[in-house]
Amino acid sequence: MANYHGPVCRFCRREGAKLYLKGEKCYTKCTLDRRAFAPGQHGLARRRKVSDYGLQLRAKQKARRLYGLMEGQFRNYFEAAEREPGVTGLNLLRHLELRLDNVVYRMGLGASRKQARQLVSHRHFEVNGKVVNVPSYQVRPGDVVSVRESSKSGSAVFDVALDASGSRTMPSWLSFNEGEKNAKVLALPEREEMEMGVEEHLIVEFYSR
Ligand code: SF4
Repeated sequence: MANYHGPVCRFCRREGAKLYLKGEKCYTKCTLDRRAFAPGQHGLARRRKVSDYGLQLRAKQKARRLYGLMEGQFRNYFEAAEREPGVTGLNLLRHLELRLDNVVYRMGLGASRKQARQLVSHRHFEVNGKVVNVPSYQVRPGDVVSVRESSKSGSAVFDVALDASGSRTMPSWLSFNEGEKNAKVLALPEREEMEMGVEEHLIVEFYSR
């Protein structure tokens, strides 16, 4: 999260789903496999029936945590999505997917979104030939995201990121050139290639109360 540095596995336990917030460990030694109950003193207690509001809140929290955003940032994306033509839920997810840190993660160049964000902040990436160190930067179809020439070799952090992320599939809206370590954004992401666990209609209901 932008300003959150505490334990993150508790978020997965709260949402009852893997959010893949820790990179390689999520695939090999996931906490949720051993402690599949909510965190806190009453985590093991039998769950009561969840209200509509509860479902909406959980859906919003899950998406927010998945993309590592604070509440204000997430709400801003929702408000922007609402102002745009089209389906608000899809617009919202596109805003999230087209963040530069998420695109780097989708390229397989960060073991987690958090690590991808760090790589962007540390000026390892260019968009259309210009260095961009803002993780929230919104890329557009036609943009080319590339690793800076000076970062392609000699950076241990970057090599680790490359190694640790081999298990994800590349979405069809990105054309990745592994040799050049760059990717062109071919189109807007479609729903089928975004996070399937996100229930955007509940998020829209949450903010529309
Ligand atoms: Fe979530 Fe990863 Fe922790 Fe598993 S290891 S609970 S997927 S953050």
